[in-house]
Amino acid sequence: MMLENLKKEVWRANLDLVRYGLVILTFGNASGINRKKGLVAIKPSGVSYDGMKPSDMVVVDLNGKVAEGTLNPSSDTPTHLALYRMFPRVGGIVHAHSEYATMFAQAAKEIPCLGTTHADHFHGPVPVTRFLTKREVETDYEGNTGRVIIERFAGLDPLETPAVLVAGHGPFAWGRTPAEAAQNALVLERTAKAALGTLTLDPGRRRLPDYILEKHFQRKHGPHATYGQKKGGAKK
Ligand SMILES: [Zn+2]
Repeated sequence: MMLENLKKEVWRANLDLVRYGLVILTFGNASGINRKKGLVAIKPSGVSYDGMKPSDMVVVDLNGKVAEGTLNPSSDTPTHLALYRMFPRVGGIVHAHSEYATMFAQAAKEIPCLGTTHADHFHGPVPVTRFLTKREVETDYEGNTGRVIIERFAGLDPLETPAVLVAGHGPFAWGRTPAEAAQNALVLERTAKAALGTLTLDPGRRRLPDYILEKHFQRKHGPHATYGQKKGGAKK
């Protein structure tokens, strides 16, 4: 048995998706990576969340070859792997068709930054990808889903904008750890819900002024972050 801790973290992040109300049935998946070993643990395909065990998590290498596990990995595994290969500081990824983020994805509209909850977590709008082409869907669909995300992130820092909407499909979120990825998926969902409500009340609502966005984002993420409790000095 390998990567016991990682499998446990990934198992827990999968259950977080249920606990946070982001998935139904067997939809959704969470993964995590051990960068030293270059191995990823991910939810098995089509297995129900009830009774799922850490040992059910499938371990694959960055090319998708199964290193451990008897079940098939999630069908979205190639998307996760493409993102891990391209975003070296990302340690966990989740995918869920959560309702409100999916509404924006289906409308192929980015989520504009309208308030400070958004600005605390996302440095600007949550971007939306283009639609995949017919050819991209017919060959290596899941790998190409990763590729259109990467294409959209040209010039963006994935840890400053830890989520994306795939046009016509739904959101992917990530973080330094699987738990953080699940939390970002939850914040994304609440942010999408608040944005939809705001735009319903005031369709012409303009985005949050930059000076407020920057204040909130930097307070939590900047070099002089003041949010939360300092642990043992150096803050990462
Ligand atoms: Zn999906």
